[in-house]
Amino acid sequence: MLAFVLRRLGQAVFVMLAVGLIAFSLFRFVGDPVTFMLGQDATDAQRHEVTRALGLDRPFYVQYASFIGNAVRGEFGLSLRQVQPVSRLLVERLPATLELSLVAALFALAAGIPMGVYTALRPKSWLSHVLLALSLAGVSLPVEGEARSMWFTPRDGGLPERVPLTIDFSSGFYFHREGPGLAFGGRERALEDVAEAAARRLPVLAELPVQSTWWGWYDVSPDWNALVGEAPELSRFLYATGFSGHGFQQAPAVGEHLAELVVGRTPTLDLSPFSADRFAAGAERPEIFVV
Ligand SMILES: Cc1cc2nc3c(=O)[nH]c(=O)nc-3n(C[C@H](O)[C@H](O)[C@H](O)COP(=O)(O)OP(=O)(O)OC[C@H]3O[C@@H](n4cnc5c(N)ncnc54)[C@H](O)[C@@H]3O)c2cc1C
Repeated sequence: MLAFVLRRLGQAVFVMLAVGLIAFSLFRFVGDPVTFMLGQDATDAQRHEVTRALGLDRPFYVQYASFIGNAVRGEFGLSLRQVQPVSRLLVERLPATLELSLVAALFALAAGIPMGVYTALRPKSWLSHVLLALSLAGVSLPVEGEARSMWFTPRDGGLPERVPLTIDFSSGFYFHREGPGLAFGGRERALEDVAEAAARRLPVLAELPVQSTWWGWYDVSPDWNALVGEAPELSRFLYATGFSGHGFQQAPAVGEHLAELVVGRTPTLDLSPFSADRFAAGAERPEIFVV
């Protein structure tokens, strides 16, 4: 028995190390961590210093070995977003995580297991059918992820000081100023696919190097417009999702609206056309200019 447990533990450690190594190697492709930490306005000297201080100039397998060494001692490095020690962030969030998992485990034990056992023992009984239907009840929102990328140049190629967000609606290519350089993107995921429209609309881009990039998921709804409201089928289930790439600019209005729904006040804005019911009612609001 002891040998079995030890063997399984050994296998688990091996799997964790292998998965960790793969994840670690993939992180090199999701954007430049130094830009995440310092922003677009940092000088080359500052970028150099942070790259060296974090050991990011070393091969990734050396970085991984050093990460494992530190992790064994409970040190998980710095969070790229919060620029704080990850161990401190973990400890801060631990109480809420424990509370959530404990309540979820209690629910699973007290309700889920008896229901599961009953439906397994009497799969054909009417109660089993009711229990299975109940387990499927809930709110399902039609949202899918669509990956989108942005790229950043270190210089502006002589463009005016003020470069507003400029969009070519025929191709989806867009650009604007970002610090001393430009930010640009499009509907396509890969730089080579955006490059043609980019060079046509903003020829100076063809001469500028790309300093960094990042990508994220658009939360896309079937008509490319947000889903905002309160679900009729589940008491007090409020939703705000499916922003389809407009979420940042719509955030102030949506935030105010949701706050009003939370406290039960009559909403200032009528956002009922954004209700998720619109698809069932055949009242979609197709977005014409998808970027
Ligand atoms: C490349 C790109 C460019 C964009 N450009 C624009 C633009 O120019 N203008 C614009 O208006 N919008 C733009 N958007 C869209 C905009 O960023 C989003 O619509 C907006 O951020 C959505 O806000 P949100 O709060 O709903 O979700 P998010 O910003 O995605 O926030 C959700 C948060 O929940 C956290 N989370 C997820 N699951 C869990 C969990 N189980 N437990 C705890 N936390 C969890 C996530 O980590 C995240 O922090 C762009 C998006 C992308 C990807």
